[in-house]
Amino acid sequence: MPTPPAPSPRLVIFDLDGVVYRGPEAIPGAATLVSALRAAGVATRFATNNSMATRSAYAERLAGLGIVASPEEIVTSTWATITHLEAHEPGLRRLLAVGAEGMLAELRHAGYDATYAGDAAGADWNGAPLALAYDAVVTGLDPHVTYRTLGIASAAIRAGARFVATNADLRYPTPGGLMPGAGAIVAALQAATGQRPLVIGKPEPAMFQAILEADGILPQQALVIGDNPDADVPAARRSGIPVVLVLTGVTDAAAAASLDGEQTPDWIAAGPAEVADLLGLTLS
Ligand SMILES: [Mg+2]
Repeated sequence: MPTPPAPSPRLVIFDLDGVVYRGPEAIPGAATLVSALRAAGVATRFATNNSMATRSAYAERLAGLGIVASPEEIVTSTWATITHLEAHEPGLRRLLAVGAEGMLAELRHAGYDATYAGDAAGADWNGAPLALAYDAVVTGLDPHVTYRTLGIASAAIRAGARFVATNADLRYPTPGGLMPGAGAIVAALQAATGQRPLVIGKPEPAMFQAILEADGILPQQALVIGDNPDADVPAARRSGIPVVLVLTGVTDAAAAASLDGEQTPDWIAAGPAEVADLLGLTLS
């Protein structure tokens, strides 16, 4: 693989799981790399497809791993969805949400009139007309989703609400194994309505584009550090951002060496120390 010239970014976007931490454990050197970047005047963002927790909750989690991050430096797929809608779909105000409490809290904090689909007035099997006056249905991972929730969301989409997915991850890793992800809920609604959603999270480019737009940064001035060639790398490629694949998460060296197409990163680094080398930074 030809190696491009070393990057000199103004902003670095870290993926979280597999790059900054792995489950409950910090990845060695990640906190030092973050500090070295900031000392060099480089802005940092921490981006996750997860839609369930608030940015503040992630900032607290990072603090527990020795990384000081403000909520404004955290990018969740919910934040990216809000930022995308504000910039590109300002007419959408009344939202029907299929997602966790953290997603609802973020939507409301951003000023949206957001109703949880499980709380929405609607018909049962034989019942009264559904309340369908929603501009958009926004989906995330909803640990309390029910058949009724899906029915109300489907009815709203069929009645013309825009269908927006914070992310379309089919599976959600837990300590007990893989559980259905937000994308499994999307798939159910897509099957029921025949409508395809606008997807914000990785591997789609909208989440990274939202970061660039919010900061007024060009793609070539940013750098993505990710561990997942199915998500981080294509999202970076589709948004024009150079990308380093690190081997501290889901990809090992053998798998990294055989990637092709839009899964191919610009650089491969074993971990934070090699990323620092690539960027010409000294880790203390
Ligand atoms: Mg990851």
